[in-house]
Amino acid sequence: MSIHEECGVFGIINKNPFDAAGAAYYGLYALQHRGQESCGIVVNDDGVFSSYKDLGLVSEVFSADTLARLPEGNMAVGHVRYGTTGGNSRNNCQPIEVNHQKGKMALAHNGNISNAARLRNELELAGAIFHTTSDTEIIAYIVTRQRLRAASIEDAVSLAMDYLEGAYSLVLMSAQKLICVRDPHGFRPLCYGKTADGCYAAASESCALKAIGAEFIRDLEPGEILVFDGERVISRKEHCGKKEKKLCIFEYIYFARPDSVIDGTSVHKARLRAGEILAGACPAQADIVVGVPDSGLDAALGFGRASGIPYGIGLIKNRYIGRTFISPGQSARLDQVRIKLSAVEESIRGKRVVLVDDSIVRGTTSGRIVRLLREAGAREIHMRISSPPFLHPCYYGTDIDSPEHLIACSHSVEETAQIIGADSLGYLPVSGLGELIRETEASVSGAGGGKESADRGRGVDGHDCAGYCCACFDGNYPTAVPSDTRKDRFERKLSEKKL
Ligand code: SF4
Repeated sequence: MSIHEECGVFGIINKNPFDAAGAAYYGLYALQHRGQESCGIVVNDDGVFSSYKDLGLVSEVFSADTLARLPEGNMAVGHVRYGTTGGNSRNNCQPIEVNHQKGKMALAHNGNISNAARLRNELELAGAIFHTTSDTEIIAYIVTRQRLRAASIEDAVSLAMDYLEGAYSLVLMSAQKLICVRDPHGFRPLCYGKTADGCYAAASESCALKAIGAEFIRDLEPGEILVFDGERVISRKEHCGKKEKKLCIFEYIYFARPDSVIDGTSVHKARLRAGEILAGACPAQADIVVGVPDSGLDAALGFGRASGIPYGIGLIKNRYIGRTFISPGQSARLDQVRIKLSAVEESIRGKRVVLVDDSIVRGTTSGRIVRLLREAGAREIHMRISSPPFLHPCYYGTDIDSPEHLIACSHSVEETAQIIGADSLGYLPVSGLGELIRETEASVSGAGGGKESADRGRGVDGHDCAGYCCACFDGNYPTAVPSDTRKDRFERKLSEKKL
């Protein structure tokens, strides 16, 4: 699969100065799967902000030297980025830092603002000057504008939320406070915890809390604002329950790390269940079940358990490919899937293989993986996908593309199987999506739920997706669809602009 993840955010605060940059580094390291284009950390040392941001993986950007240059502080915020709005330039690295009339602010954002184009246009007409082409700066601008009339930074954040539509999990730092926000639909995850030495930390996923030795306390509710001042945690819920909860179902299928727990459901268990459902819906006669590393592995295990076909290791992933990997000269023509994945011939040769992956986008990567297994001697390859076919683009912080790039939009299942070279192909039925997260039914009905909510949450084919966004599969968008959805929509050439 070749969908890129979105972004990961991290924040930490304590009463007294400590190695906040070091803690943020470990937190971001655990969130690396959510974004590999760039990363950054901003440390707050008694109101003085120091930062380091650059393009690359956390391990590439932060050396022992760069970390040592960041001072101790009682707060830090960090970000790993895959840009879903705005290009991959240093300018767009986060956290974004702003100096405004009432102080300083650093902001890290996961998600996409679906009304960003309109907001930016209005702000520019009112005299705003933007330094980046990402939608995060729009949020920063609106918060700082609201700060002029608000009594506190958290009041300004709350006022800003009235303007924003779409997906935003935010970690925001002022001179004195750390503020975490989950949008009223709760598209993207955000949770917080506490370490033994009294630090409060917030992160996109619970795996980052584990990485710094923090005990998970809970997920933020959709619409909740949490304010940390180093000693107290204050929860504000004026935006909670205003909109139906719509956590991205694809977090469970692909984006999140399997050892994370989101809104009460283990990602690992959700993937196992996807494999079990798939085995029932699209059975295959085979000798071995193989998962595509990493996000296909858990579903493959579930498929194996439910079908009785032995699970085996058939593909190995090269884990050490960083951003600096290049394909020089002659080797540029080589298939890059071969650099990332290698087939285990001893497991595969002469066997009928069920190959489980999390999704198919254009089909190119799937075709290459099927070819790898054929060359390793697989007799038959039955591809099984632990998500339904992608039929619609995503506007909430991922790069699931326009329909012309989605193979399922223009080809039947049989045609797609033929194109990727598989003997058969089966997808998770859309009706199975609600089953993945059945453990969370209680929390779903608690978030503006009840029968009415469940009826609203029914997808176009009647499947029960109450509480979850499944729009890229069923086209049932929780917000108005933006008119201009290009990743580079704020980076027009002169010839495209009306001057
Ligand atoms: Fe997630 Fe798909 Fe909804 Fe985007 S459209 S938020 S990827 S479920």
